[in-house]
Amino acid sequence: MDTTQFRQLPAVHKLLESAVVASWCDVYARTDVVRALQAALSQARAALREGGTLESWDQPAILRIAADVLTRQAQLHLRAVINATGIVLHTNLGRAPLAAEAIAAVQESAMGYSNLELDLETGQRGQRYDHVEKVICDLTGAEAALVVNNNAAAVFLILRELANGVPVAISRGELIEIGGSFRVSEIMRESGAQLVEVGTTNKTHERDYENALNEGVALVLRIHASNFKMLGFTYKPSLDALVKLAHARDVPVYEDLGSGSLFNLKKVGIGEEPTVRESIAAGVDVVSFSGDKLLGATQAGIICGKKRYLDRLKKNQLLRALRVDKLTLAALEATLRLYRDEEIARSRVPTLHMMTRAVDDLRDDANRLADTLRKSLAAQGKGVVADVRVTRVESQVGGGALPSEDLPSYGVALHVVGVSEQTLLERLRAQSPPIIARIMKEEVIFDVRTIFAWQRDELVRGIANACTGCA
Ligand SMILES: *Cc1c(COP(=O)(O)O)cnc(C)c1O
Repeated sequence: MDTTQFRQLPAVHKLLESAVVASWCDVYARTDVVRALQAALSQARAALREGGTLESWDQPAILRIAADVLTRQAQLHLRAVINATGIVLHTNLGRAPLAAEAIAAVQESAMGYSNLELDLETGQRGQRYDHVEKVICDLTGAEAALVVNNNAAAVFLILRELANGVPVAISRGELIEIGGSFRVSEIMRESGAQLVEVGTTNKTHERDYENALNEGVALVLRIHASNFKMLGFTYKPSLDALVKLAHARDVPVYEDLGSGSLFNLKKVGIGEEPTVRESIAAGVDVVSFSGDKLLGATQAGIICGKKRYLDRLKKNQLLRALRVDKLTLAALEATLRLYRDEEIARSRVPTLHMMTRAVDDLRDDANRLADTLRKSLAAQGKGVVADVRVTRVESQVGGGALPSEDLPSYGVALHVVGVSEQTLLERLRAQSPPIIARIMKEEVIFDVRTIFAWQRDELVRGIANACTGCA
């Protein structure tokens, strides 16, 4: 090893004098630039130690590496990724992408000041919930509404206010656990409610609720089964029947709808998801649902229902700890407004659009992706032997909504000779932006349903890089 070669590498202070590096210092902190140059130089020394030549480690080569290090260092930890899993509401990937209208609203209220808690007419203090209450009521038929941090927080607040220290009836079939170990039985205990289990796991009858009501429960809780489904020998009373039973004894009914759709998906042939409006029309006193599941907005828990109960919730001290910020309210208001027209909602709310896309469109997308990918791989000419094929797949709604409802879709299946599927997935995650795909039957699958049109070029570049082993 000839370590005298090391001395012929440019020194950091010399590199800092170059025009290119000086321009970096306009954008990045000087300490970060120095660190990147040091990292590039130590790579060069390591390469020379392994028998590399000085010619291949000239100044431009070192600066290329440093530039690369610099962009990586500048990358935020929370990054945008391409979702090629076909799972529309992927909790690990941030659930719902926002509508353009919501993004614009977020940007506007983030840039400066807003009337978050100011009544512009009177100049007096206003309520942050005023910005969304009316539109929620219009869309659901409810008398009043409120928004908290997420639906889990909504469940907690409602039980705490309406059921602290009192018995609450819930069917054994609805004592579920949903993602992130959120257990209904435990959240009830935490909130101070006394759990009264009604019926059996598969069947709960009207008379079971009646018995519980006769023994003095103070609230009837109905919970959407979310990410699980019972089949076969099952029974539960209709919402109408349940409300009638409870109201006959002046007991309120609270329904945790989970996803809570404002759009009637049944009408377009997807699932059996009840709408929030149906629950309110059935007479349910309080309903809660998520902002970032089927609604397709931001993380939030939306509560709506009868004014007398909502008034109590609004006065609860806990609300202060669960309150939403201006960005959430901005995104939510803009998204909710889109729902005033079903067709607008369907074309503008990205999650709704993805869920309801025609299968022919998806097939066209998959064919286009496969073609460009083949061309890109051929153009690289690096001897990669890859099999690119269009295939039928099933997408999922995700987010605990419609668990048994697979959506027919199309994807591109990729197999690279000599590269395992796991390795390919790892390489895809190492791209910028990272690409998240899944493995099916020993092939890596890119489901086009969740890929945005504006991501196509980046996607093809990323996949081609992953095939050849470049980052
Ligand atoms: C998803 C879900 C929740 C939790 O909602 P988050 O908005 O994720 O907090 C609560 N209850 C049910 C039935 C759910 O499906």
